[in-house]
Amino acid sequence: MSTSVGIQRQNRASPTPPPPPPPEGGVLLSIVVPCYNEAENIPLFYAKSCEVLKVLEGQGVSVEFVFIDDGSKDETAKVIQELSEKDERIRYAIFSRNFGKEAAMLAGLQAAKGDFTAMLDADLQHPPSLLPAMLEAVKNGEYDCAGTIRTRTGDSKIRTFFSRAFYRLISKLSNMEIIDGAGDFRLMSRQYVDAILSLSERNRFSKGIFQWIGFRTKWFYYENQQRASGDSKWSFWKLFIYSLDGIIAFSSKLLAIASAIGIILFILSICAVIFIVVRKLIFGDPIQGWASTICVILFCAGVQLLTTGVLGEYLAKTYNEVKRRPHFVIRKQK
Ligand code: UDP
Ligand code: MG
Repeated sequence: MSTSVGIQRQNRASPTPPPPPPPEGGVLLSIVVPCYNEAENIPLFYAKSCEVLKVLEGQGVSVEFVFIDDGSKDETAKVIQELSEKDERIRYAIFSRNFGKEAAMLAGLQAAKGDFTAMLDADLQHPPSLLPAMLEAVKNGEYDCAGTIRTRTGDSKIRTFFSRAFYRLISKLSNMEIIDGAGDFRLMSRQYVDAILSLSERNRFSKGIFQWIGFRTKWFYYENQQRASGDSKWSFWKLFIYSLDGIIAFSSKLLAIASAIGIILFILSICAVIFIVVRKLIFGDPIQGWASTICVILFCAGVQLLTTGVLGEYLAKTYNEVKRRPHFVIRKQK
């Protein structure tokens, strides 16, 4: 049996020991934290979260932390393990390599045992101070998820422009309203988390998944925070690829657009044939039109390559899905 299959089975079959049971009548809140090269930020994040969570614990809420080390190249794994030795509320999974934030979030949600689960970045860009209000909104059952929307303060104008354009485009293409600035910082009910876990696709695009599963979400707004330390792992190019993956994961309209272009060009080509035949019959066959011929050939070749590319993208995604590889491989966990 291959390692990855074995581990995937473990992932599904509740690999981690159960967290401390909540006190009588209390609830368990899981804090899921995907980490990639966050060795410096984790202690800060942990200290800040503990400070906020102390208040909740005073009100009978038990807390567990689930740190996922997404194959970091720095001391992240070590820092997490050391913390977990000091604090028994901390569990973790360490990936065998970097599988990306989507995989890390999925691993965290699979491991979380809480009645409620919150997901936060390790770099303190997601303020833990919002957690009590978010829990309050979901705990009384009025909402299934407390989502957050960050302002774009401090973002460059060009990045804001492209982000807005992307959200407009994907909302149109997928027929779902994917909200600009709504991120992965959420506090979710058990039912909401189970719904997310029931979507087993490999090409995961959380912003779409949250929207697709539905439920009632209460929105909280917060000011854009700078990273506590280190740099964002998202370059402009990575974000572009991520956006394209998101569109392909949640819409097959690009294929329809490719077909529509094909049909329009076909109709145009019939018109051109009629025009050329009629001109030949009326004026004979003077040799001319080299430039226009080359333009038409280049244009059609370009469109063909583009549509083949679109087809290829969907085919590649389908190929990835049918291989049914696990989303991640865990090297060590507690
Ligand atoms: N992250 C991860 N795997 C990756 C990239 C990022 O687990 O491959 C984590 C990272 O450690 C952080 C969160 O995802 O906790 C958000 O990453 P980052 O701050 O780089 O993104 P941004 O805040 O710029 O969107
Ligand atoms: Mg960040």
